[in-house]
Amino acid sequence: MTTHSSDSGCLERALDSLRGLSVGDALGSQFFVPDNRPLLGGRELPPAPWQWTDDTEMACSVVLVLAAHGRIDQDALAASFARRHDFDRGYGPAVTRMLRRIRQEGADWRELAAALFNGRGSWGNGAAMRIAPLGAWYAGRVEQAVHQAEISAYVTHQHREAVVGAMAVAAAAALVADPAGAPRPVALLDAVTELIPRSAVAQGVRRARDLLDYDDVATVAAVLGNGRRTSAHDTVPFALWSVARNLGDYEGAFWSTVRAGGDVDTMCAIVGGVLAARREWAPPSAWLERTEPLPDWVPEAV
Ligand SMILES: [Mg+2]
Repeated sequence: MTTHSSDSGCLERALDSLRGLSVGDALGSQFFVPDNRPLLGGRELPPAPWQWTDDTEMACSVVLVLAAHGRIDQDALAASFARRHDFDRGYGPAVTRMLRRIRQEGADWRELAAALFNGRGSWGNGAAMRIAPLGAWYAGRVEQAVHQAEISAYVTHQHREAVVGAMAVAAAAALVADPAGAPRPVALLDAVTELIPRSAVAQGVRRARDLLDYDDVATVAAVLGNGRRTSAHDTVPFALWSVARNLGDYEGAFWSTVRAGGDVDTMCAIVGGVLAARREWAPPSAWLERTEPLPDWVPEAV
């Protein structure tokens, strides 16, 4: 496929983040398997290969659309989500129904996404889980990252909290990937809070900032949420807390995030995608090798 050649640096960074997202997603989801739970205490890796889930599949579409259009084109994004939707990747039932209707009946994402949950729209964490590579694409251009993330969210998640959750994750990734240097933990969470609208997500991120000196992951997850409710506001604050606590340390970030339980594949996908937005903070190569490769339709950097 053709990509915007002037955007090759953007695409490289987005792919770095996408790989980090896929490792977090794939390895995180291994800990839903009861036999693997005892490995957590000793930080032992479960047997490979690690298959990624819906988080990675949707993030691949985000990168595909950015490479083809140089920005988020909502119709192209909806079409790619629908075309690539694989039932066995662990999608939520509402998104599955919606993407099937788009693919099989040519239904309009605008109507379907707006009608979800009695017209409130979904406040699930699905718009946030897939968006870190977009933040990496817009490295250092945080306002554009936030704006494009907002546009990308509406395709499936129209509730305010879900949209703001995606904006927050994209902002964090754009800040982490900033060529001028990544911010320190407090500055990172302060900057994210300033970039997003007033919301439960923003309140959670502010609380996450106040808890940066807490060492006990279980306590922090009990306060901020661990994604168990799969809502954006139950997911994004803890994910960004974990990012800020573990800047420069993908492995440490993974183990501390997975210990919180809850929606671990999505939590680890967000954390991994944001950290790996900075190339030198990539996952260990041994982890990448055990992770299922990205699908062949993902564009390659030239
Ligand atoms: Mg998943």
